[in-house]
Amino acid sequence: MMMIAYLERQQQQQQQRLVPDGDVELDPDHSILRALDSDATGDAVAAAARDFGGMVFLQPARFLRPSTADDVAGAVVLASRSSSLTVAARGNGHSVCGQAMADGGIVLDMRTLGPPMEIVRCGGTAAAVDVPGGALWAEVLSWAVRNHGMAPVSWTDYLGLTVGGTLSNGGISGQAFRHGPQVANVTELEVVTGDGERLVCSPSSASDLFFAVLGGLGQFGVVTRARIPLVPAPKMVRWIRVVYGAFDEYARDAEWLVTRDDSAAFDYVEGFVFRNDASDPVSGWSSVPIPPGSAFDPARIPADSSPILYCLELALHYDHTQADNVDERVKEMLRPLRYLRGLEYAADVSYLEFLSRVGRVEEEARASGTWATPHPWLNLLVSSSDVADFDSTVFKRVLSRGIGGPMLVYPLRRSKWDERMSVAVPDGELFYLVALLRFVTPHAGEAAVKEAVEQNQEILSHCRNKGYDFKVYIPHYESEADWARHFDGDWTRFVERKRRYDPMAILSPGQAIFSRAR
Ligand code: FAD
Repeated sequence: MMMIAYLERQQQQQQQRLVPDGDVELDPDHSILRALDSDATGDAVAAAARDFGGMVFLQPARFLRPSTADDVAGAVVLASRSSSLTVAARGNGHSVCGQAMADGGIVLDMRTLGPPMEIVRCGGTAAAVDVPGGALWAEVLSWAVRNHGMAPVSWTDYLGLTVGGTLSNGGISGQAFRHGPQVANVTELEVVTGDGERLVCSPSSASDLFFAVLGGLGQFGVVTRARIPLVPAPKMVRWIRVVYGAFDEYARDAEWLVTRDDSAAFDYVEGFVFRNDASDPVSGWSSVPIPPGSAFDPARIPADSSPILYCLELALHYDHTQADNVDERVKEMLRPLRYLRGLEYAADVSYLEFLSRVGRVEEEARASGTWATPHPWLNLLVSSSDVADFDSTVFKRVLSRGIGGPMLVYPLRRSKWDERMSVAVPDGELFYLVALLRFVTPHAGEAAVKEAVEQNQEILSHCRNKGYDFKVYIPHYESEADWARHFDGDWTRFVERKRRYDPMAILSPGQAIFSRAR
């Protein structure tokens, strides 16, 4: 079903005919197609045939722009009456393996969906925001802060992702150890199921559908609205980075930090691996210092350190009334940590600046051309019991030359993930997000992409052969056996939920889990 292709092939594929076999319902005069600004041939379809990964290209028959949940339901009903049509909700297309595509089917541009965001008062000072499924997290942040001085508590590192897209996966960043991932920070959803029904669900009403959709890879319904709780937005952030020479010390401190009581905890804990190398501009020494312009002092690195070093990234929120004692608080909180003294960095930035930090990386990558090249990314959740072995084999050996982009590794807590959700996580209470965010330079060519894909396979094989307790985050598999293995004991529940909410397997075909009923 899926195909790996490279940029050279893209042009050729965009010239293919765009009409699926035997689907008379896709007569261009069909009222839904006319109403939803359908585009069968233009640039829009070409855009819907590719994603951030730049390795999979699947042409839809139509790219529709719904503005209401009823429009979404209309498109799903149209597909259900056809012999073979499928429907993919496309958030911002930031998948890397075609997950938001529909080969010869209908792609819904969720970015056009309304209505506008609206505040919901939940009694007392509690509030939430109702957001359309296609809103970007950047839009939610700016709307909630500007209009109400409030913000959600759980984020992704990069905010150019849609609410429906991350709720279909997980939504992880440095706040998740404390507040849970984004899927644990939503109180109500409006969903269009695979038979075109529009339902409102929550932990107390239609709860099975609610939890099925969270981390459900778009399989059970299109999220047309999500209710996200808000808290008063922090004003300022002390953003800190400290460097470690040894993985065991890094991991011990990181795990200690994410298991502290909330009253003694940082507001954000992440970390990354970097190369003990001055000459690597992407993953070497220069990737560590903040604010920009700060220098890295290599004299502080012990002579016997390995070619791989570790950077713990922390943040503490404060407002202007607390500004006087923030230095003292941070000093106290850092005192027990075993990082390399002299290799600590800090910057005071506004909350908005902090949450938008990856936007600046995007600007640079666009300028250098690496935003547009293929991204053979691999994200894993690796149990704390296996992460030291992962470090010594994968970071220190397989990836010792770097990957041309960030290599994140930081701990999360399983107890912050509700077991009723569809998302698959490792068994142990502490597991690490390992994100291998590869960027390929414009002139590296097809061979570099192939090599990266093969290296990802090698890493996956290693994790399996060593019997790690691990899961792929934002998974991509080709066979049913692989999906069954991914969901493990919850596979039966996943299949039953599919039968219940999308019996014809119309939704989210790009995940390649189920085949459309004929
Ligand atoms: P798409 O890629 O468009 O869709 C993803 C899947 O969800 C598809 O199957 C699609 O059909 C389905 N879907 C989309 N919208 C809906 C909807 N409304 N209802 C039902 N199903 C829907 N992830 C993290 O957890 N943390 C990060 O910090 C993080 N950073 C990232 C940074 C970059 C630069 C990129 C490219 C990705 C990052 N991701 C991160 C991964 C991100 O969570 C996924 O790419 C995710 O798919 C969201 O992207 P999207 O909104 O563009 O969704």
